[in-house]
Amino acid sequence: MSGFPEFKYRNNILYAESVSLQQIAQEFGTPCYVYSRAALTSAYNEFKNAFAQREHLICYAVKANSNLAILNLLAQLGSGFDIVSGGELQRVIKAGGNPQKIVFSGVGKNIDEMRMALSADILCFNVESLAELQALNQLAGKMNKTAPVSLRVNPDVDAKTHPYISTGLKENKFGVPVSEAERIYHCSHEYPHLEFTGLDCHIGSQLTELSPFMQASEKMLNLLDRLQSQGLEIEHLDLGGGLGIRYTNETPPSISDYVSALCASTTHVKQRLLIEPGRSMIGNAGLLLTRTEYLKHTPDRNFAIVDAAMNDLMRPALYDAYHDILSVHQKTDKTLDYQVVGPVCETGDFLGHNRMLSIASGDYLAVMSAGAYGMSMSSNYNTRPRAAEVMVDGDSVHLIRQRETIDQLTASEAILT
Ligand SMILES: *Cc1c(COP(=O)(O)O)cnc(C)c1O
Repeated sequence: MSGFPEFKYRNNILYAESVSLQQIAQEFGTPCYVYSRAALTSAYNEFKNAFAQREHLICYAVKANSNLAILNLLAQLGSGFDIVSGGELQRVIKAGGNPQKIVFSGVGKNIDEMRMALSADILCFNVESLAELQALNQLAGKMNKTAPVSLRVNPDVDAKTHPYISTGLKENKFGVPVSEAERIYHCSHEYPHLEFTGLDCHIGSQLTELSPFMQASEKMLNLLDRLQSQGLEIEHLDLGGGLGIRYTNETPPSISDYVSALCASTTHVKQRLLIEPGRSMIGNAGLLLTRTEYLKHTPDRNFAIVDAAMNDLMRPALYDAYHDILSVHQKTDKTLDYQVVGPVCETGDFLGHNRMLSIASGDYLAVMSAGAYGMSMSSNYNTRPRAAEVMVDGDSVHLIRQRETIDQLTASEAILT
């Protein structure tokens, strides 16, 4: 059993939908990210269906995986997008996304990025500080525009996740405190070129419990009530992203339970509900396919040296994150305890520690749950070209990003003349 509905063994070979990963590795080479269209579609539909009749907008967090094919599929399904840079804005537009379904988050939007987003007429700027609010007001004035804004409120709740991806505590750099947000909304008339259309929060990523979401939602609702009683007309309530996925033995709420809980906690709210899921949309719809180059046995340890590395999938090195590692060809031979490591010159370059595997050199491995924050966080460290990406759809495979070439890597560099 693999535990992933779209990635299953057939006759001891791991498949993505109806295509064997062995075949994909041979045709497209490794390392290679493999996504399942069915898995992505079913995650989106689970979000959508759980909202039922509730007025809502699902804004996929582009930073989780920004490949144009993924953005395009989501756009076709009706998804909106949560972006954090001008680059992501251009990707969404290129992929056919509707600007009126884009929200723009992030603590450090620069003037060029704001200008681009104002020209594109996006749905809303999620503003994270008073200084940013003033800059946006000034720019909108110069451009003869009115910028739709939502303040990102920091509700000061503990997301109980990895400290690097916890964002809703008062010591984090994100958002403004509830009291300051209230003062700013109260003075909204001081910003003639802004329209305060929403209220926003995002408390962190890979949350495996509902309670922090519920605490945040309650604080947001209290604030919303106070703002409305002061006569402010807020059109939407954005509760952010952050729903966790199962990497190993986590038991996060299902997408539908999560959405149902958000809806239930906001029954008396007339505003449109927005959410910004990233990981839960694409995380378990992708894997990283890699080839075992060498096995190395020392008196202490067994190493499986594979052709994917921390530059391809940074999460283990960055967060000590766990990804399941499956043999593409499941064998019945004796297993050994392996350190699965890449070729990069860092001890932090590992994909998994202490994995019981039965492998030989040349065998392919699948690093599971790598659809989110995999390719999008990849780098060229050690002058390693970035991996290819393919999307499986039933029995067909589409190359959605070619493997990078060394020429591409050096193309914009120059030596002194
Ligand atoms: C990263 C991010 C998200 C998505 O988080 P996930 O954990 O991937 O769902 C949503 N909103 C904002 C503002 C973010 O920074």
